[in-house]
Amino acid sequence: MTIGKRVLVTGGAGFLGSHLCERLLASGCDVLCVDNFFSSTRRNVEHLIGDPRFELMRHDVTFPLYVEVDEIFNLACPASPVHYQFDPVQTTKTSVIGAINMLGLAKRVKAKILQASTSEVYGDPDVHPQPEAYWGNVNPIGFRSCYDEGKRCAETLFFDYRRQHGMPVKVVRIFNTYGPRMHPHDGRVVSNFIVQALKGEDITLYGDGSQTRSFCYADDLVEAMLRMMATGPEVTGPINVGNPTEFSIRELADLVIELTGSRSRIVSARLPSDDPRQRKPDIGKARDVLGWEPKTQLRDGLRVTIAYFERLLALGDTYRAQREGVL
Ligand code: NAD
Ligand code: UDP
Repeated sequence: MTIGKRVLVTGGAGFLGSHLCERLLASGCDVLCVDNFFSSTRRNVEHLIGDPRFELMRHDVTFPLYVEVDEIFNLACPASPVHYQFDPVQTTKTSVIGAINMLGLAKRVKAKILQASTSEVYGDPDVHPQPEAYWGNVNPIGFRSCYDEGKRCAETLFFDYRRQHGMPVKVVRIFNTYGPRMHPHDGRVVSNFIVQALKGEDITLYGDGSQTRSFCYADDLVEAMLRMMATGPEVTGPINVGNPTEFSIRELADLVIELTGSRSRIVSARLPSDDPRQRKPDIGKARDVLGWEPKTQLRDGLRVTIAYFERLLALGDTYRAQREGVL
């Protein structure tokens, strides 16, 4: 597959990026991890730093980057609503200018390039489950738009570089993914519920909890990205990658309480605006083209993720944990 290659992972210190860097190193690649640590910390990749094939560079992808690589995984972009809405202008810049810079780099060094796109390009979908051919239902001026429209524009750029310059681009649309190294305060539902349950705090169910999501475990998702990168130039995507098993958010809350043995109460909180009612990928294309489907059951993935957050919280609180090297 990618053995012996020089691979750039932007956003490589993030939740998914750090797992991807690990897998690439294990398969014999040289890995250049580029990150500005906007929504992550060095801790996610600290264990890789002694590896002579691993290099960590602090860099913001909205600025040009001059390196020599064979493949680029473009993951740089905050992914949780709390993080991407903190500085929405920077979020759009990261997706759009970041894509231009990374595509320009790929063009100069003739590298294959993969874009970590998102199910958010479907917005609040009125087609269910979502196939790649569905064009989406996205609010262009709402709180989520900096992320949704930024990612949509990045896809446009990928396909224009393909049409204009014949480049080997690849786009995967990632659906909700969870696992160890999620940021404990990123506000995403899996990390929120687990941290709340472990601390015995109220579990915040936004709205009535009947909205649905489909949760994919990080290892499965990384496998899909690697398979996509290994395809020939005729495979561009976009291809949905995620777990097609759908759960309501209330079911997720109940499962987290069961697996943690927590006494937390479930309380209702305000539903954020433009919160998609339902989301579930049609992964027919991923099955056909990549021979891929997720293997990890939600229950099993949650157990591992809960164990991670237990270790994180064991030192007292997450800030202390961060300082002392658990995060
Ligand atoms: P994350 O926030 O943990 O990782 C993103 C990384 O990008 C962080 O390390 C952050 O510091 C870095 N970053 C942000 N702006 C940057 C910039 N301008 N320059 C350099 N680095 C920058 O999120 P994640 O869950 O690991 O997501 C990784 C990618 O996958 C993102 O592009 C995200 O949009 C996409 N994605 C993730 C999910 C999911 O459920 N996890 C779903 C859909 C899409
Ligand atoms: N959610 C919730 N409680 C929380 C965090 C999120 O009920 O503490 C809900 C949120 O409203 C959404 C779903 O869980 O319907 C998934 O939210 P997340 O931010 O993880 O991802 P996204 O909305 O981007 O899919």
